[in-house]
Amino acid sequence: MKTDVLVVGAGPAGGTAAKYAAAKGAKVTIVERRPEVGVPVRCGEMMPSDEEIIKMFPNAGDISSLFDIPKDMRLREIEGIKLIDPKGKERLIDFTGYTMDRDKLDKHLVSEAVDEGAELIPSCLFLRTENGKAATSLGEIEYKVIIGADGPGSRVARSLGLQKNSNPYPAVTAQAKGDFDPYVHMFFGGIAPGAYSWIIPKKGQANVGVGFSPKFAEGTLSEYFEKFRAKHSLEIMTKLEGKYVPSEGMIDRIVEGSGMLVGEAAGQVISVNGGGLPLALIAGRVCGEVAGDNISKGRSLSDYQSECERIFRKPLATAASNKRLADTFAFGSDRRTEMCMSLLGSRRMGNLIRCKRIFP
Ligand SMILES: Cc1cc2nc3c(=O)[nH]c(=O)nc-3n(C[C@H](O)[C@H](O)[C@H](O)COP(=O)(O)OP(=O)(O)OC[C@H]3O[C@@H](n4cnc5c(N)ncnc54)[C@H](O)[C@@H]3O)c2cc1C
Repeated sequence: MKTDVLVVGAGPAGGTAAKYAAAKGAKVTIVERRPEVGVPVRCGEMMPSDEEIIKMFPNAGDISSLFDIPKDMRLREIEGIKLIDPKGKERLIDFTGYTMDRDKLDKHLVSEAVDEGAELIPSCLFLRTENGKAATSLGEIEYKVIIGADGPGSRVARSLGLQKNSNPYPAVTAQAKGDFDPYVHMFFGGIAPGAYSWIIPKKGQANVGVGFSPKFAEGTLSEYFEKFRAKHSLEIMTKLEGKYVPSEGMIDRIVEGSGMLVGEAAGQVISVNGGGLPLALIAGRVCGEVAGDNISKGRSLSDYQSECERIFRKPLATAASNKRLADTFAFGSDRRTEMCMSLLGSRRMGNLIRCKRIFP
């Protein structure tokens, strides 16, 4: 089989890149290892509002058309984030957003790509690539450009000889039944050592989960989740699903030869909170447009690297350095976590969440 642009992975980064490459007239093929796009859900399902995305990534270009997510997919408007210290003290951060069913988001983005002419091949595992030919579980695909949108353990990155995400954190999530107030709750301390646990309200249910840093933890993530569930008397309705989250910001090189990495494969995640959906869409658009232009007019793929540097390098480097500060000073004991949260206060912690410096 032959294609112009081969996209590996039908997550938010792959779906968006495929849509914009196809809109430029390229023949686009998406291979996805899962039989059903977006299933199972491994995400907190919270998307920041357009205003918050602009504050974090002022160089991202037009946000409103990119995040034009159908109103009926927005399940719950988020009015703020409550950060809860180990003693239960809450600090409210003024931060807006909304929640969705993540599987529906992924399906929506891929269907937009298909509407532009892209082809989706489900249950197709990318294995490796050599000389413009990708080996997959369903046979060989010859391409001109390959986009690795295959998440944190990217096989495309490995196959292209690019750096892989170092130090990824495990996180697990499930759905809990009930009515919850319209705030994201983030719990810090021994309940989720080195990261946080969360309750993110949806409609008649909430996405609940725990992430941790293995170096601060004693026990498995399922055991931590069970403690969290019991503490908050959560009525869990679904199976626990887990995944790794990159924690050190964007990797240095995201373009190699005729290959590009996007989304979590490129480490495009905010280290301090594990948020990656806005970045997947922003980078997906740039990646798809550059790939499409490469096919039609020979545009250099390195434009994608420089554009991502302009949009993400500073905010993601700041987030990664704030994360290192937290690892050094705030994590390790509940007492330290409490002291640091009290020292920082709501305003500085708001900066932390928004990828801004916490000290001048
Ligand atoms: C528990 C958890 C909670 C999170 N909560 C939030 C949140 O609330 N808000 C937020 O903004 N971010 C959140 N994130 C981060 C967010 O989910 C990711 O940043 C986002 O999914 C990245 O999108 P992506 O398309 O790069 O990768 P993915 O969503 O991982 O998509 C990669 C796709 O590639 C496919 N694939 C992988 N390997 C292959 C292969 N070899 N061949 C073919 N297909 C392949 C996968 O099946 C998958 O469909 C969370 C992450 C986790 C783990």
